[in-house]
Amino acid sequence: MTHHIEPIGTVHSCFKELFGIPRQPGLVAAARGWIEFYPPYDRIEAFSGLAGFSHIWVTFLFHRSLDNEMSLTVRPPRKAGKRMGVFATRAPNRPNQLGQSVVELEQIEERDGKVVLHIKGLDLLEGTPVIDIKPYVPYVDAIPDAHGGFAHERPEQRLQVSFSDKASQQVDIFGAKYPELRQLINDILQYDPRPVYLRKLANKKRFGFLLYELDVRIELIDAQHASVIEVVRCDNAAE
Ligand code: SAM
Repeated sequence: MTHHIEPIGTVHSCFKELFGIPRQPGLVAAARGWIEFYPPYDRIEAFSGLAGFSHIWVTFLFHRSLDNEMSLTVRPPRKAGKRMGVFATRAPNRPNQLGQSVVELEQIEERDGKVVLHIKGLDLLEGTPVIDIKPYVPYVDAIPDAHGGFAHERPEQRLQVSFSDKASQQVDIFGAKYPELRQLINDILQYDPRPVYLRKLANKKRFGFLLYELDVRIELIDAQHASVIEVVRCDNAAE
């Protein structure tokens, strides 16, 4: 059986590139975005009753993995290079490229007669196609005594983060537009967004990532410490 799926909307995210996106939702609470919907799903009656839910399931397409060749095993970041079965992971490169994330629903807004959902704690790239939205229902979705296999615990916070004087001043300036910017950068970095192979390259001390329209430049001081050295406007990044 084949079944055609048409996206109902698009995610607009603070993450403009894959590097730096948290590996699961909720890890970086200050990661914000919004979802725009296509007709007829942009009408307010489709969302009637949703405001009472604090969180939603977003089902989406890993659209940036679409051209990757499918493999039955993948290397999850936690397993430091060891291969695991694709169905034991939540890796983007998977059959049908479907993903699902629980995110906080901050606000349901009607903008020019079209619904926009404001969401928080996301792990999604700008432009991610949305397939469906469902309410997160705690009595069925939260299972406190469930076993989490090799991913039972939250990922380790590997890096302590500091800001240079220059970066601090820049964050204060951009903070007028993005009040949680310092927290956002700190929380992304403390989980160390670098893939395992990059962590092993001793001479690769500088790296960076895009947030909103900003280029965040980092220097690794040692294996446990990273310093934000600069936060500058990047004219190539979409806001
Ligand atoms: N919570 C979702 C799930 O379990 O299906 C996604 C988990 S997946 C491990 C999260 C990673 O997917 C992010 O760190 C980012 O690298 C990647 N990602 C996010 N949006 C994507 C997109 N539209 N296309 C491809 N990869 C994406």
